[in-house]
Amino acid sequence: MGDLAAPTLASPSDAAAPEEQARVSEQEGEATPEAVGAGGEYAQERRQGPRPPAGQPLKGLHPARHPGRSTRMIGEVVVDLGLADRETVEDGVAAARAQGRPTGVVLVERGILRHDQLARVVAERFGLDFVDLSVFDIDMGAVNLIGVQAAKRYQAVPVGFTDDGAVLLAMANPTNVLTIDDVGMMTGRRIRPAAASVEDLNLLLTRLARMDESIEDIVEEEDEERRAGELAVEEADSDAPVIKLVHSIVAQAVQQGASDIHVNPEEGDTRVLFRVDGVLAPAATVKRRMAMGVVSRIKIMADLDISERRVPQDGRFALTVDGRRVDIRVVTLPLVNGEGAVMRIMDKGATLKVDALESLGMQNDDLARFDRAIHRPNGAVLVTGPTGSGKSTTLYAALHALNDGERSILTIEDPVEQRICGVKQMQIAPKAGVTFDVGLRSMLRADPDVIMVGEIRDRETAHIAVEAALTGHLVLSTLHTRDAPSALGRLIDMGIEPFLVSSAVDCIVAQRLVRALCKHCKRPHRVSEQVLAEHGLAGAQPYEPVGCSRCAGSGYRGRLALYEVMSVSEPIRSLILERAAVDDMVAIATREGMRRLREDGLQKVREGVTSIAEIERMTSSLL
Ligand SMILES: [Zn+2]
Repeated sequence: MGDLAAPTLASPSDAAAPEEQARVSEQEGEATPEAVGAGGEYAQERRQGPRPPAGQPLKGLHPARHPGRSTRMIGEVVVDLGLADRETVEDGVAAARAQGRPTGVVLVERGILRHDQLARVVAERFGLDFVDLSVFDIDMGAVNLIGVQAAKRYQAVPVGFTDDGAVLLAMANPTNVLTIDDVGMMTGRRIRPAAASVEDLNLLLTRLARMDESIEDIVEEEDEERRAGELAVEEADSDAPVIKLVHSIVAQAVQQGASDIHVNPEEGDTRVLFRVDGVLAPAATVKRRMAMGVVSRIKIMADLDISERRVPQDGRFALTVDGRRVDIRVVTLPLVNGEGAVMRIMDKGATLKVDALESLGMQNDDLARFDRAIHRPNGAVLVTGPTGSGKSTTLYAALHALNDGERSILTIEDPVEQRICGVKQMQIAPKAGVTFDVGLRSMLRADPDVIMVGEIRDRETAHIAVEAALTGHLVLSTLHTRDAPSALGRLIDMGIEPFLVSSAVDCIVAQRLVRALCKHCKRPHRVSEQVLAEHGLAGAQPYEPVGCSRCAGSGYRGRLALYEVMSVSEPIRSLILERAAVDDMVAIATREGMRRLREDGLQKVREGVTSIAEIERMTSSLL
């Protein structure tokens, strides 16, 4: 149960191991968001939280305030729980009575209750637990006791275990005794029913079904391959759990939108980590007895030599997850505690697709500056930032905006990340002698209006790009500098004459990516006015991450870009000629309206889309 095998492999007897069970509170009162749930060790790992001692409330599980069936009517419970005022509820109850329909349904229809609130009310009325599936950590070991098909049929999902070994069953209708009996028979356990919102239950069922299918997909595809003799590896039946485990690791990583999977052997168990939205976080623990099999299995899939464990190897394989083909690059590493592996997920369906400048998320004045610069017939527009800051997304958005069929657009990239219809795209091939500067030189002979150079890395490329910008071409490119003004100095350092830089460059965008708060679970961050003022956030109401099922417990979902857009104005051109210090340029540019990266970040904190912590993280990486 403790290893990742739990989600798909736990047999009822595994799940019964008492020390491994999720603990369910019998305690009265509200589960606080701070009380991190224990949906099995898997969920624990994901959150890095301490395992709560027995008897502590689980996140998302709300025991009834008054245990035992109550004689109160639904309407009364709604008022008692403070979900609506008496008058509103009485109106609803009267309407329901007149129509001869259930009160709860009418209250939801009238917008007085949400689905989840209705479930809460039903639970309270019958003295049962209410389980909020949007934040509750589902124990896959419990789910697998009956399987997704049966769960669908019963509109009930076993989501965890109680301290005394009963199955916690999330039900749309927790009073359905027949379902409780059936599931009790199927699992051979006592059932503790809990009310759940119909909507959340259906969402969960869909997710579980999809995960099931995607794993079947992979297995089927592989069976075919094996039949075709492409995968000429004899596998004993005892390998099946390992295969399923590896598949479920990959499927979960893809579903969480991870870019990399790290398999790190440690002294005891092996740790699996996912990189999601640029941040590496523990995803699961694989028990020692399975760990070697996991790495071997990955090596088999990537067609590597499984007997060689002392030398790093690299390879690749492809899987179908959720009906999408996912290419995976594998690197194995001989580490002190055993062989590890890093898998990079090349999920084409997941690449950020931005085709309109507006969707970049620039503030209006920044967008206007950038838009003006890329619509000039000549000059250079540069995007700067470290690797992984979303520079190419910005350039692609510009190309889409310019690609109206009336301009000849050529690109030279390393590699071509996104194909654009109507744009002539070239990939560098250093072995064949096609480097950025060579490609760029030949492109200039092909009558371009717009040239995009993936990156300016050396003097030659810088020189040709600047010359092209000065001779009637619009040049788009990227540089690695910490902020916008530094790009000018960088070009001069590369050996370009200041007077060329000053006349060629029109606009520079510096950018960073930060994680976006999960909309489903973010909550107001209580910070003193003094701290807010110190952060430059006086009067703001920032939000902080919490973690729920929709964001895999991280509190964040997706990323957004912060920008610093600098127009190269006449005063700045003079400063370039004087080889002035960056600070002097910053002073002029900010006076002319340039917003620094950090300020843009703080604005996005004010808007509640990201957190103070993310801006701090980004700022510390500025250096
Ligand atoms: Zn969330």
